[in-house]
Amino acid sequence: MDEEIDSEFIVKLTDFLGFDKERVRHLIEKNYLARNWGRYEYLLRFDKEISHVERGTVLYEQDSSFEMITGFPKIRRAMILDPTVKKHFIGLEKVAVEEKMNGYNVRIAAVKNDILAITRSGYVCPYTTQKAKEKLNLKFFEDFPELVLYAEMVGPDNPYISKDIYNVESVEFYVFDVREKNSGKPFSISKKQEILEKYGFFQVKFFGEIPLETAPEEIVKIVRKLGEKEHEGVVIKDPEMILSPLKYTSSQSNCSDLRHAFKFYNEAGRDYMLSRIVREGFQTVEWNENEAEFEKRCMQLGKSILNPLRESIKKVKEGQRLYEEARIRVRDLKTVANFQVYLNRFGIDTVFEEPKVVGGEYLITIRKINKSTTDKTQAIWQGELW
Ligand code: ATP
Ligand code: MG
Repeated sequence: MDEEIDSEFIVKLTDFLGFDKERVRHLIEKNYLARNWGRYEYLLRFDKEISHVERGTVLYEQDSSFEMITGFPKIRRAMILDPTVKKHFIGLEKVAVEEKMNGYNVRIAAVKNDILAITRSGYVCPYTTQKAKEKLNLKFFEDFPELVLYAEMVGPDNPYISKDIYNVESVEFYVFDVREKNSGKPFSISKKQEILEKYGFFQVKFFGEIPLETAPEEIVKIVRKLGEKEHEGVVIKDPEMILSPLKYTSSQSNCSDLRHAFKFYNEAGRDYMLSRIVREGFQTVEWNENEAEFEKRCMQLGKSILNPLRESIKKVKEGQRLYEEARIRVRDLKTVANFQVYLNRFGIDTVFEEPKVVGGEYLITIRKINKSTTDKTQAIWQGELW
């Protein structure tokens, strides 16, 4: 961005953000405020949280100033429900409970006469963008160019988190938030539901508004049922969306995360693994489990750690390399090429297999190579120390 460091652009940006000029210069130099690339170069992204500006916030020039799409704020986790929910939402009579769906978080908005799907980190994913254009009622963005949809892309053809549990054939966008550009102010739950209904969008499942007093016990019931279907859990929200939401997840979802993490044990974050194990500890105690239930939980937890480990270690011993399979489905092969370039930009090592024609579209299997776990395992098999 060097050529602009001194330009009018910086002055304008300084005015818009309310930071001083030196600060903005510093952010740009450090790449904390960075440009997207290619045709989205005009889109600046915050690579980390800076003075209350959420990570992943993006902005672009609009008229004589800028327009901003705020990042999706991290949702704090309740490790136990009682008293945490009552304490966090103190003063409210009721809380709104929604399903927490397990897919890929994207913001969809009209940006300079285009519709973009922006990732949590503020990149424009070409595949997700194409899918959003095909799947969503775009009239919404004509009517409300100042609004942003915050949605979960779910389904088997989601190359980031592929799940077959939602009765979705390819991918679908389930909206959970509607927010204003610039301020990032969310709609209340009822106003959100009304507008989403009107435009025919899919919405995350709503379990209703539950009195705060009985919320913990009601949520336990909901989460148990969700868990039985391998669904992830819930997000508990202030119906007015003033207090921040909380999340709480099922044991099955913890175990499913662990299965994935231990398959590629050398690339998964240690905090990620540990926190999922600790959650199981709190849940078994809070849910007052008897010996039989506890044994069952132990088996499930143990298996979700050891099964994938055994499989990966064996595969490498037999000379195979470890990889993850992802899948995309497109109408136009150009989207595949764009997506491949996009992934390569992040240094993700992929192999795209030959497209198969399915119902007028192309289905492409992608192998993501997990070099680090493969190499580590190989080294151990050759006698290296940990
Ligand atoms: P994880 O999804 O494992 O909790 P994360 O780091 O993305 O990891 P958060 O930062 O807390 O977690 O964000 C919550 C996530 O939940 C977002 O990715 C969001 O897309 C997703 N989500 C699914 N359903 C909902 C919902 N009903 N309301 C809010 N967020 C939801
Ligand atoms: Mg998630």
